[in-house]
Amino acid sequence: MQVSKIMVITLIIIISTATSCRMSHEERLEKYLETIDRHEMMEWMETITDERYNGRLAGTPEYMEVAEWVADKLESWGVSPAVNGSYFQMFDQPYTVIHDVGALKLHRKLPDGTTDIISYQAPDQYYPGMNSGSGELTAEVVYVGYGITAPELNYDDYAGVDVEGKIVLVNRDAPFRNTRDPEYARWLPYCYHQYKVKNAHAHGAAGFLYIDGASANPNIAYIEDLIVKGIGSEPLNDIFDGTGKSNRELLAGINSSFRPASFNTGKVMTIRANTSRVEDGVTCNVIGIIEGTDPDLKHEVIIVGGHLDAVGNAGGLLVNGAIDNASGVVDIMGAAKAMATSRIPLRRSVMFMFIGAEEVGLVGSELYTNAPLFPKENTVVYINLDMAGNGTGISVRGSYRAGGLLDFFIDANDNYVHRPLRANAPEVETPSYGRPRSDAVIFDRAGFRTMSVGTTNPVHRTIYHRPGDDISTITIDIMEDIARMLYVGLIDMANADELDLR
Ligand SMILES: [Zn+2]
Repeated sequence: MQVSKIMVITLIIIISTATSCRMSHEERLEKYLETIDRHEMMEWMETITDERYNGRLAGTPEYMEVAEWVADKLESWGVSPAVNGSYFQMFDQPYTVIHDVGALKLHRKLPDGTTDIISYQAPDQYYPGMNSGSGELTAEVVYVGYGITAPELNYDDYAGVDVEGKIVLVNRDAPFRNTRDPEYARWLPYCYHQYKVKNAHAHGAAGFLYIDGASANPNIAYIEDLIVKGIGSEPLNDIFDGTGKSNRELLAGINSSFRPASFNTGKVMTIRANTSRVEDGVTCNVIGIIEGTDPDLKHEVIIVGGHLDAVGNAGGLLVNGAIDNASGVVDIMGAAKAMATSRIPLRRSVMFMFIGAEEVGLVGSELYTNAPLFPKENTVVYINLDMAGNGTGISVRGSYRAGGLLDFFIDANDNYVHRPLRANAPEVETPSYGRPRSDAVIFDRAGFRTMSVGTTNPVHRTIYHRPGDDISTITIDIMEDIARMLYVGLIDMANADELDLR
């Protein structure tokens, strides 16, 4: 009698608790959805893009300060440290301080035999090499096409030209353009900026002009006695002036024939850089986790990440990296805060990863994928956010094997966000052999399922890797909605009985 009475009471308690739990899950989900707030997210944007962080270049103390600020936020919300009790996965990262923008000048020969000097302006006509050696050089400019020496491909842009002590003029990428063609894989090693400066130096060049539209690029190897600049169309046109050639025509010829078109331009330029190298720089990924509550499923992890670093300050040309990529960081922070403070239990673990040293060559994601904190087999997906803060619509792209996970975000958008959403994944495995240009590609090539979340219908012109990438070019309301979509989608993904994993 006594026993069964207790059982009945217990049963009633269990049933009512279960009912109130189910009720409160929806209520709690909605309550904390509302706490994802554009005003607070805007304050975070203002902090991360503040000048005091000096463009968040990987290796600098200023990057470490902003990394600590992010970790403090995670801690205050109850997101646990993921790296053996720490939020920081540290690694060495040398970097270059650029003291001023230096100079780029053309010594132009006039018809009367005299010479005048054209001085170009940064950042519109040229950009200081972000890892340039220091010094000044006056020398002839030699055009070397793509700057590639590939004996096994029977291709050498340096054949037949002497670049010793001279300034080479180099294009990005490679003559083979179809990155979906497996043949492209053979050209891949020669597409890296790092390779091109090393190859120029190996051939004796003392200066390196990169035809890259004059933008900040810290993803270039540092070579002490090589002076590097990125150039735009005006110096390029002046170098070709009177040669009877143009870069565009030469590239078209190289691309169709796979024959180099290198030549001495006869133009003399002065290039100057004022830099110093810091060999003992350190940087980090910042990683927090909400551990799963299910004894089995907690060993599976969903990772959402985006790079925290930006391209730094080139002698006063300060890039605050608002779109690229404070936007992705703040989207993730919005979701992380709501997930952690709601205390909605998650069966699987969810990891928040703020990646370091993306801009210097995807170093932080490479480091993580080489030594993941959860085995790859137990990682459901890596979801990347890079430049996700300018527009009125949302895009979610999955790799082939992540295609079965799109519905979590489609449903989250349908039920709570109601933005135009473009969500897709290829129907078959479609590898790309091009140079990796985002952290998602690093995870993808390491064998992880990946997704990339971005925006559609841009409202502002995106200023990429140049001064002006400031909060004035972001649309904070789409960021609020991306954070809300992440929040609902991640909770549902973490709690699903089964996942459709290819
Ligand atoms: Zn980026």
